[in-house]
Amino acid sequence: MNAQAAAGVAERVAAVRQRIASACARAGRDPAEVRLIAVSKTFGAEAVAEAVAAGITEFGENRVQEALAKQPAVEALVRERGLPSPAWHLVGHLQSNKAKAAAGAFAILHGIDSIGLLNVLNRAAGDRRLAVLLEVNVAGEATKFGFAPGAVAEAVDAARGLPGVEVIGLMTVAPRVANPELARPVFRELARLAREHGLRELSMGMTEDFEVAIEEGATMVRIGRAIFGERS
Ligand SMILES: *Cc1c(COP(=O)(O)O)cnc(C)c1O
Repeated sequence: MNAQAAAGVAERVAAVRQRIASACARAGRDPAEVRLIAVSKTFGAEAVAEAVAAGITEFGENRVQEALAKQPAVEALVRERGLPSPAWHLVGHLQSNKAKAAAGAFAILHGIDSIGLLNVLNRAAGDRRLAVLLEVNVAGEATKFGFAPGAVAEAVDAARGLPGVEVIGLMTVAPRVANPELARPVFRELARLAREHGLRELSMGMTEDFEVAIEEGATMVRIGRAIFGERS
């Protein structure tokens, strides 16, 4: 990546942080409560390293194979530049046959969407305890993964019996809407569900809607395009 493009990532990170701070101010929240996860899917190791240089410490990927290929290249670049190693989040759907690989490659797995998958992860965990978020399909969209809101209780209960997984919160992808205000009820409902189940983390909000998500309590926002630019 050339110097101009690198400056682009740094400037976009600064702009996103500013927008997070403004949303927190509107909601009376401390910006330290909101973790910025830069979603680097489709972008290469160089772009990730530029984001690390701009202060990003956590990255999201939605495909296990892509992440496994990218991580060593990022490690090499950050070591060479004296930058810290980032942490990785899986933000997309996980297939059971990739659970073992995912258990070793990510700090937190968002997007866990079945009790069967919780069981598979429990077996893949070894002597670790994997931090997971349950994906909830709040709007009941046919095209989306996730538990129905009414199925969250059963999944939380099932996970309590599994020593290898810890459900730390809930995650959702809001419907694509013309105006982010229209996603607000979805975020509010996810926050209500998390409270009902005593879960502290709320992974919600992307490039189009993260400010509304923060106003509704997001503790992790997953932002790709506003940081890395449009995906080709
Ligand atoms: C791609 C993706 C994001 C980031 O989307 P942007 O619109 O680029 O901010 C967030 N969450 C999930 C699950 C994704 O797949």
